[in-house]
Amino acid sequence: MNPDILNTPIEYLKGVGPVKADILKKEAGIFTFDDLLHYFPFRYIDRTRITTIKELAHTTEYALITGKIITTEVLGVKRSRRLVATITDGTGYMELVWFQGIYFIEKMLHPGDTFQIFGKVTFFMDKPQMSHPELQKVTTDSGPKDYLEPVYPSTEKLKMRHLGGRQIAALTSALFQQISEKDINENLPQSLIQQFKLMGRWEALRQIHFPKDKASHDQSVRRLKFEELFLAQLSMAMVRLRRHQQSKGFVFETVGEYFNEFYNHQLPFMLTGAQKKVLKEIRKDLGIGRQMNRLLQGDVGSGKTLVALLSMLIAADNGYQSCLMAPTEILARQHYDSLTSLLKNMPVKVDLLTGSTSAKERKEILQGCLDGSIHILTGTHALIEDTVKFNNLGLAIIDEQHRFGVEQRAKLWRKNKIAPHILVMTATPIPRTLTLAAYGDMDYSVMDELPPGRTPVMTVHRSAYHRNEVMHFVRSEIDKGRQAYFIYPLIEESAKMDYENLMKGYEEVKSYFPEPQYWISMVHGKQKSELKQTNMDRFVTGDTQIMVSTTVIEVGVNVPNATVMVIESAERFGLPQLHQLRGRVGRGSEKSYCILLSGLKVSEDAKQRLSIMCETNDGFKIAEKDLELRGPGDIEGTRQSGLLNFKVANILEDKNILQAAHDSVEELLANDPELSNPDNTCLRSYLLQKKGKTVWSKIL
Ligand code: ADP
Ligand code: MG
Repeated sequence: MNPDILNTPIEYLKGVGPVKADILKKEAGIFTFDDLLHYFPFRYIDRTRITTIKELAHTTEYALITGKIITTEVLGVKRSRRLVATITDGTGYMELVWFQGIYFIEKMLHPGDTFQIFGKVTFFMDKPQMSHPELQKVTTDSGPKDYLEPVYPSTEKLKMRHLGGRQIAALTSALFQQISEKDINENLPQSLIQQFKLMGRWEALRQIHFPKDKASHDQSVRRLKFEELFLAQLSMAMVRLRRHQQSKGFVFETVGEYFNEFYNHQLPFMLTGAQKKVLKEIRKDLGIGRQMNRLLQGDVGSGKTLVALLSMLIAADNGYQSCLMAPTEILARQHYDSLTSLLKNMPVKVDLLTGSTSAKERKEILQGCLDGSIHILTGTHALIEDTVKFNNLGLAIIDEQHRFGVEQRAKLWRKNKIAPHILVMTATPIPRTLTLAAYGDMDYSVMDELPPGRTPVMTVHRSAYHRNEVMHFVRSEIDKGRQAYFIYPLIEESAKMDYENLMKGYEEVKSYFPEPQYWISMVHGKQKSELKQTNMDRFVTGDTQIMVSTTVIEVGVNVPNATVMVIESAERFGLPQLHQLRGRVGRGSEKSYCILLSGLKVSEDAKQRLSIMCETNDGFKIAEKDLELRGPGDIEGTRQSGLLNFKVANILEDKNILQAAHDSVEELLANDPELSNPDNTCLRSYLLQKKGKTVWSKIL
């Protein structure tokens, strides 16, 4: 046995060589035997089920046909140039079509030869067709096979090097000739394997590549999913545990003057029960002597800013500085404004640093940070630049975290020798499964209560056909002294089109409000930040009644007198965005409305989104629905972060496995935090071996 065989570079596999190795590395990330072993099929061809052409129906999706080539010809010119082959299996005729690799394939297809053909069936003029099917020549020795044949994901570049899905199967097969059970260490404790009746690791890896039947395949997938979800959660939980055990944190012992003065004399309202509960959790973290790393989830408008402020006052009471980082300049400024106004009677120095801070101001601010005279620094990404040095940063708060990557979080940790306490606040709630799968390294708090006196925003969906009525309604609200937003989507591909779209919208809104008593502000991403700010301010002070804007105001903007939110082309927005936008109204005591305007024709998916919005105001429910509709691969912030790149598991479909794995992790670490129990040492060595290869190790 060769213990390192799995680390063998892929070029040493029979049938690979340097050229193919190069392309496998670039295109598929396969560098070693181990990588290939974990490059799983996405589909299998059931060779035991051959369909006849006559049986093909409009409902057939994929089919395996055995047929003889009758003719091949190249038709069309330029872009419609294609190779068409006609085949028959004796029960009917079918056309196979290729638009690429025409000459290469034509050379392969000799009339009279028989092929096994696998592909997606479509119908053209009632005749079955397959385009770019997979082909395998039938020779005398290719008798019926009794297993599911794996098909691996491939790319055009791989295919051009003869590394299509089937050729990769051949490599995998060669790999299994070279390795054996001895080379694959079990990485789950026997107790878990027994408890959940899991297939062993070696067997699972073999069966996922070359399943002997459907049942073994399903067992292998179940095992690998469990393994994946268990190990991911284990490593995150270990990060959390080690921090609890080892990380030195600043101890904020006292709740002093600043906090008490503010809490007892300046606070404009009672804290909600949820705010109190979370504050208690945070205070405990801050006083215990280890670094806090807490995720605060709360619905839009639940009052997270105040929790942030109170925490920062505790820091100040203990002689430490804090920073509050927001994803956009508007939001950072808004934080700055509300903090300075809340703290107006207090000797707490708050400052604001963004990309558009002038050089002179910037110099002063950097000085203030360095000498410690600034207590609280709010700002954008500008805060994490290396030139920003604090005297003693004790607490870093990140608002609307999904816009910041893990790397940026890590940068804040490194601002001091001793990492500051970290509080991450999400803009909208995160589904529970996602919290488990992606934030297991953090402790987390939930604020599931809105301040009293809010009436839920009434939400309706109207098509453009009803625009007049909508405008009429908006007018009636404005005439009552309220304010309204009109939001236009960003069409990412074209900034120019966005702008034109917004301008058209602006003109249209204006045409509905021609009288001189109506004033309109407009804000968009391309504006200079001063102009943006002026327009924003005019709306905030009530100088203008209407705000026409792109989604730059999506987060955090707070104008309690605004009671109507009209979202144009609402079908183009995602659920969290709609919810976040809707959160801009319903902030005062007046009844508020959100009108989702859409085109006349709306896709099924969009219809579902809009109707969920009309049904509920609950951000937690909306988050779950969103995950369900979009699937986990596409949730903002997680895609880039690489946290959810599970190979086999899907946190949505595999909720139960995720939860079971979560519970097992908790139980296991409660009993054996060092993983020193003989049954658990396999986990320990596995994690050690993976160290340095995961996002998590970068944070530590
Ligand atoms: P979010 O959680 O979305 O960031 P904010 O912190 O912006 O919410 O708070 C939304 C609004 O609720 C603000 O106007 C804030 O002043 C107000 N608010 C916060 N806490 C309370 C409270 N306990 N009682 C009443 N109003 C509150
Ligand atoms: Mg906020």
